[in-house]
Amino acid sequence: MMKIRSFFALIILFIILSLSILSISTIQDNWSRLQLNIAEQNRIEYLQLLLVASEKIYDEHQISHISKLYNNPDPINYNPANIALKNLIAFSEKQSKSSHFLQDKYTALEIKRLSNIIRKNDSISSSYSFNRLSTIIEHKMIRIPNSSIEFMISVQGIRLTNRLYSSFTELIDQLIDICKSNNTDTDSKIKAIKLLGGIDEIKDRLITIQKFYLNNSNEIEKINDLVNEIFNNNSEKANKTIYKELVSMKYNDINIQQINVFYLQNKQHISLLSQLLLKQATDIANNQINTSKIKIYTMVCFLIIFFLFSILPIIMMIFKLSDAFSLIQKAILQLSNNDLNINLKENQRRFSFELDAIISSLIKLKNIQIEKHLLENKNQQLIHQLKLKSTTDYLTSISNRRAFLETIKHSSPEYFNHSSLAIIDIDNFKQINDKFGHASGDEVLIKFSQLLSLFFRKNDLFCRYGGEEFAILLHDCDHILAKKILEKLCTKVRYLSVALPSGEKIYFTISIGIAEMNNKFDIDQTIIHADKALYHSKATGKDRVTVYTHDMAVY
Ligand code: GH3
Ligand code: MG
Ligand code: MG
Repeated sequence: MMKIRSFFALIILFIILSLSILSISTIQDNWSRLQLNIAEQNRIEYLQLLLVASEKIYDEHQISHISKLYNNPDPINYNPANIALKNLIAFSEKQSKSSHFLQDKYTALEIKRLSNIIRKNDSISSSYSFNRLSTIIEHKMIRIPNSSIEFMISVQGIRLTNRLYSSFTELIDQLIDICKSNNTDTDSKIKAIKLLGGIDEIKDRLITIQKFYLNNSNEIEKINDLVNEIFNNNSEKANKTIYKELVSMKYNDINIQQINVFYLQNKQHISLLSQLLLKQATDIANNQINTSKIKIYTMVCFLIIFFLFSILPIIMMIFKLSDAFSLIQKAILQLSNNDLNINLKENQRRFSFELDAIISSLIKLKNIQIEKHLLENKNQQLIHQLKLKSTTDYLTSISNRRAFLETIKHSSPEYFNHSSLAIIDIDNFKQINDKFGHASGDEVLIKFSQLLSLFFRKNDLFCRYGGEEFAILLHDCDHILAKKILEKLCTKVRYLSVALPSGEKIYFTISIGIAEMNNKFDIDQTIIHADKALYHSKATGKDRVTVYTHDMAVY
């Protein structure tokens, strides 16, 4: 029984432990995921700032170049990129304090340096710097850790739209260079052709993302529209015209302003597309944060409920067990103090089997103790009865000779100083027996004993010494006083009678011998002396009291 219970207890403990470990590890997992997602949200915010800054730089760059080409007043003093860059650098520096963004301090410095170069209006270095800025942005995007495919696709979309920005910027730069050199700058032409090819490739990739991956997005219609706007027939046509002219080397006077307007229109669409894709990425990050939070809350609730359900019964059991133990302890203490009034009941099955076994053992012990006490009481009664029988005369119920002598021997001799010992003998008792029968003789003995009990004081000792003889010790009473007292007894006996069923009355007399005691007395010797005095009473006519004198030694 014990083994099966232990086995079940072990299984339950194992299940509790496994579930606890499982839920704690789920909470830990989701907690780290939540941290990652929050970091991801920060990065998306950073990405947004980077994109805004790059868009503003693109604007500033184009306005500056075009105005220079057509000799318009330079609007460089109007810097739309300044605020965006300030925000971006401030964010970079703020994030650099957190361990996730250690290198962002350097990113902030790099962004500052690149934006200064772009402002110098050197077309080659500005294109390069813009590409470099774009690379930084892409690098930031790639570093976002996320397992969701939709999120990665959204981020990829942002990368492509950003690359589209830089490609447009560079294409305009190259076309301006071609115009400036009167169509002799072959390097710029080759670069422009490459860029056109690059733009086509980016277009294809964006369309692929749109068609195959973003079908489930809520914003799919808007994204479709925007992609179509960017790559509509006109843009295809414009690209093809530029391409044809560049390849045929007949490129004379491309209307740069017109092309720029066209690309500026496209830029607005690209900007919108970026915003949409960013929103998509933000939504996914938020969803993941919410999912992690819900999972953590669910697991915490589960753990709380689980602990309530598993720990509460354990606490209750502990309380119950401690109750049982204190009950048992109290009972053991009572039993050890011989207090049998213990409050334990058998077969209640309130506690464990083991404790119930202890309780029933204690109850058995209690019953044994009760039986033992009863036996001890009985023994005491028996001992008392035996003692009484051994010290009491069976017929007269007064002390016998043994009790009498023992009391004297066990008392201090001083106690008997100036006390007197008397031996009483009923006169002619044999005749009473003979005349009235033995039973009547017994009645005489009983009647006389009753008289002795009434006649003497409490501290006087008396006994049936044997047959029809009695011994009396008169405490603190010299032989003169003793003689007087015992003569009174003789007188009382003369009037004492035992009534027979026949109506007859038995009268009898007694003879007494007295011996006085001092503190050096010898009880045996004193008895002999009293006996001699009694003999003297008998010899001189009975029914009298004689005090022992030394001259009696001759008898
Ligand atoms: P005396 O006056 O010289 O003492 O003569 P006595 O007859 O009293 O003395 P004796 O010694 O000759 O006889 C004593 C008798 O007492 C003998 C005995 O049968 C009787 N006796 C002794 N014990 C008992 C007893 O317990 N009951 C009865 N009924 N008789 C007893
Ligand atoms: Mg006698
Ligand atoms: Mg006698």
